[in-house]
Amino acid sequence: MKVFQYLSLSCRAGSLKVLMVLLGTLLISGCQVLQSIDKGLYDVAEAVTETDRVTGQRSLSTANRNQQIAQGNQYVEKMLQNERQKGRKVDAALDARQYQRLVRIFDRIHPISHLRQERWKPVLIDRDSFNAFTTGGTYIVVHLGLMKQLNDAEVAAVVGHEIAHTVANHVAERQTHQQLSVLTSSSAVRRQGYQAAFTHEREREADRIGILYSALAGYDPYAASHIWQRQYLQQGNARSLFAHDHPVNAERAAEAKAVADKVKQYYRPGQVNPRAHALLDNNVLWQKRSNRHGDSAGEGGGLAAILSTAVGVMSEHQQAKQEEYRQAQQAQFVRSVQQQMRLEEQRRLNDRSWQTRWHYTGRVSLHKVVVGIIARDSKGKTYRFVGHHKGVLRPGQRFNVSFMLNKGLTLNQLEKMQTQYYLDDALPVR
Ligand SMILES: [Zn+2]
Repeated sequence: MKVFQYLSLSCRAGSLKVLMVLLGTLLISGCQVLQSIDKGLYDVAEAVTETDRVTGQRSLSTANRNQQIAQGNQYVEKMLQNERQKGRKVDAALDARQYQRLVRIFDRIHPISHLRQERWKPVLIDRDSFNAFTTGGTYIVVHLGLMKQLNDAEVAAVVGHEIAHTVANHVAERQTHQQLSVLTSSSAVRRQGYQAAFTHEREREADRIGILYSALAGYDPYAASHIWQRQYLQQGNARSLFAHDHPVNAERAAEAKAVADKVKQYYRPGQVNPRAHALLDNNVLWQKRSNRHGDSAGEGGGLAAILSTAVGVMSEHQQAKQEEYRQAQQAQFVRSVQQQMRLEEQRRLNDRSWQTRWHYTGRVSLHKVVVGIIARDSKGKTYRFVGHHKGVLRPGQRFNVSFMLNKGLTLNQLEKMQTQYYLDDALPVR
């Protein structure tokens, strides 16, 4: 399930395209040397940096930003037109109370953000799903289903996260990245796992920035970690099932909590921190432009220059490859453990819940064990449910996992479907 999604748009800028080709060349070389950036590549990066000094980042990236806004907004406006043609309502006409709530929360987060000088607008659309997205322009599109499931602080976390994608220039990075997969013959860039890992890094960065915004705007900075923790309890991590295009829920919850631990010092419940603007530049997460190759997440505010992004892309490319490797290792571990789980018994508890008994025959002690079940109805619609085993699982141990249905399903209905158990996740005890 895609919770936070952002769409990438095709890039038509002539000058930008030339630059993209140059970046493409950089990365082709990057892929060939695999583990590290070699000397030649470094020289090319230096040349780009030189250009950067001559051109001046600000004028280049401002022009680019205007174009990005035009493209991003065009996409959303077409979508809204389409909604109206199909007779679907939007914004206050759809749900006045939820729309006002969205606007109220938005109006506290946006003035805190790096893009406060731009005129942004939240949009509420008629979808039940748990989703929100940006397109690099000045709209945040939120599904009604998401508003209904989240409290105010959690909505603030989502709004901050979406603004952060644009602040950190992820849409342009995504464009660069897609150009690369077209231009390069790099097998790494084309691999699905790599694409997923690349997205992971973007999601983490947007989480970090969004959580800082929340704290500065007086919203509970732990709200993001609560969202992911709840998703984990309801859906697990689905580690053995597919390559994730977003960070797995448990890791994301833990990372969001770690960020909240750091920024909670700026949090004044219900109040905007009086030092909010100064703290945006220098805070416990990043220092603005302390050195040009340093790790500065916000890059001084949304006008992140394409050229400095280019240099950053190379190290991000390495990071994404490491992350891809880590995720692949863990997925392989879960699939191997899955072979060592035997279902011994299923017992009905009531109309909506049942208990399963398993025998674990592996040799490694495990924790955070999550078992899932996939069900498919006669129309081909699939459902997933998970059960958690608490504590450590020792070699040879038998253990119980309980499942509970939601989404209006009963066990009688489930029994008529095709079902299959799978190991959702398990970590070795080290
Ligand atoms: Zn996101």
